Amino acid sequence: MPLDPSPDTALVLFSGGQDSTVCLAWALDRFVRVETVGFAYGQRHAVELTQRPVIRERIAALRPEWAARLRDDHMIALDALGAMSDTALTRDAEIRFAETGLPTTFVPGRNLIFLTFAAALAYRRGARHLIAGMCETDYSGYPDCRDDTVKAMQVALSLGMDRRVVVHTPLMWIDKAATFAMADEIGGHSLVELLVEDTHTCYLGDREHRHEWGYGCGECPACRLRADGWTKWQEQQA
Ligand code: ZN
Repeated sequence: MPLDPSPDTALVLFSGGQDSTVCLAWALDRFVRVETVGFAYGQRHAVELTQRPVIRERIAALRPEWAARLRDDHMIALDALGAMSDTALTRDAEIRFAETGLPTTFVPGRNLIFLTFAAALAYRRGARHLIAGMCETDYSGYPDCRDDTVKAMQVALSLGMDRRVVVHTPLMWIDKAATFAMADEIGGHSLVELLVEDTHTCYLGDREHRHEWGYGCGECPACRLRADGWTKWQEQQA
């Protein structure tokens, strides 16, 4: 049964990664107008940004109603974030767990900044709904992916702009295997295929090595999560 879509506009924080692509499909299923926003902050895996237009085109081709609903794409340059942060996501450093218990890929405040810029853009575009792929379940304990953090941001943004902002995080409580299952449920085999072939996850930006779960180095934490999630999902279906 197709959902009765909301007449509201939604803005999806869309990086070109697996999670934000599932979020985009989730939004296209629920809102009559869906816009996307991406951030360039000097990430090592900037290759994900080059996948964004490819994914947008292919996801729109999956269903005529999705093609009609998918609207403008926006890119925001956040060079200052990259310049300020000295992490394994923005420079050529080893990816490991630091003494803080956080991985060296942690860019402090990244998602807080993303949500703030997205909300400012949403205000201008008349969009009430932000869709973001934060997840508490599978991640390496990034504090800005926590449900409480996101809810606090929703309250702060709504108050600070004197306009209701709703931040949806459809992946918050599910793991990577369940994310594949959700994609299958929303868009069937062709959406899963698109996820594998076109979305980018690998922190090192590797698009040379193709595995059954997609492209990547196969070793970095992002690749491991995706590979493990794929395997678990395959086993669940067997
Ligand atoms: Zn990798």
